[in-house]
Amino acid sequence: MAKRILVTGGAGFIGSHLCEALLRRGNEVLCMDNFFTGRKKNIYHLMDNKQFEVIRHDIVNPIYLEVDEVYNLACPASPVHYRFNPIKTVKTNVIGTINMLGLAKRVKARILQASTSEVYGDPQVHPQGEDYWGNVNPIGPRSCYDEGKRVAETLFFNYRNENNVDIRVVRIFNTYGPRMLENDGRVVSNFILQALKGEPITVYGDGFQTRSFCYVSDMVEGLIRMMEQTEDIGPINLGNPQEFSILELAERIIKLTGSKSKIEFRPLPKDDPARRKPDISRAKRVLGWEPEVDLETGLELTIEYFKRELELD
Ligand code: NAD
Ligand code: UDP
Repeated sequence: MAKRILVTGGAGFIGSHLCEALLRRGNEVLCMDNFFTGRKKNIYHLMDNKQFEVIRHDIVNPIYLEVDEVYNLACPASPVHYRFNPIKTVKTNVIGTINMLGLAKRVKARILQASTSEVYGDPQVHPQGEDYWGNVNPIGPRSCYDEGKRVAETLFFNYRNENNVDIRVVRIFNTYGPRMLENDGRVVSNFILQALKGEPITVYGDGFQTRSFCYVSDMVEGLIRMMEQTEDIGPINLGNPQEFSILELAERIIKLTGSKSKIEFRPLPKDDPARRKPDISRAKRVLGWEPEVDLETGLELTIEYFKRELELD
């Protein structure tokens, strides 16, 4: 049966792909965004769909809507943007999350939180399983985001325990694909744009730090499966367990773009996690989910997107 689904942060990178996938499944979708890092062009192509509605709203303010499900994605996700106004980032994660949980409580909607691998901080356990409590600097440059997301998880579980709200929590690991913002400093978009423009590829530190990159269509499938099942409320890790060093990523992007760009080493930002790789055995077991798009295929699709974007400029 078709549902009315609210996607906060729906005009953002992952949110816009999620709105598309939910519409394809025949649902009515309310996309809510304050357009801080979201863009209208991410959702233009959905505007003609009668099942789609856009609401310009900041989740830090309460709102009254009738919906069956809420995907709570509203929050700047890249270090550049979440540090732009760190107090606002905390407000979005705390006050905004309380507002969305309050809405879910009032209308008895199921609500899913887009949490993050950043709750593990600079992890001392590898790979990271859901039982690991993390290693987060509470006053560091990433703390507005990391601690904000940790409190958001706390709020989700307290609303469940105190008010019986039907929650789901996923911890998203590095995700990439078309519609990433060009200027948000994330590694995949940075390297692709630098390679396409023939600029130096800026590797921070020695480049031996690792990340595991999940293509956006795999992530969206995982989010929907998590919402739709009733066996496990989470937290569940979603991400691609294939681990690559940042240097390897740079070399692959240079090869795939045929770029003449050279690698340039820059200082490593403070509190930059040294290693990150999800243990996804719980997602495999509960959701029957694992990523299908390998790094090469996903990078090719993302490179095509950025090539088109550069031509349009
Ligand atoms: P994004 O910045 O593209 O999307 C976030 C969206 O939320 C944007 O459209 C932004 O305008 C909107 N937003 C921000 N603050 C808001 C507010 N107060 N009220 C209403 N809207 C607001 O980032 P993304 O990569 O699509 O991330 C989506 C979610 O997934 C975020 O919650 C992020 O923390 C989480 N996540 C993403 C990744 C990743 O690698 N992309 C990793 C871990 C977690
Ligand atoms: N990084 C890099 N060069 C860049 C951008 C990022 O070497 O131009 C590194 C960054 O230091 C980190 C990794 O790439 O080790 C991933 O960074 P990103 O900001 O994409 O994600 P996060 O650190 O939040 O996982």
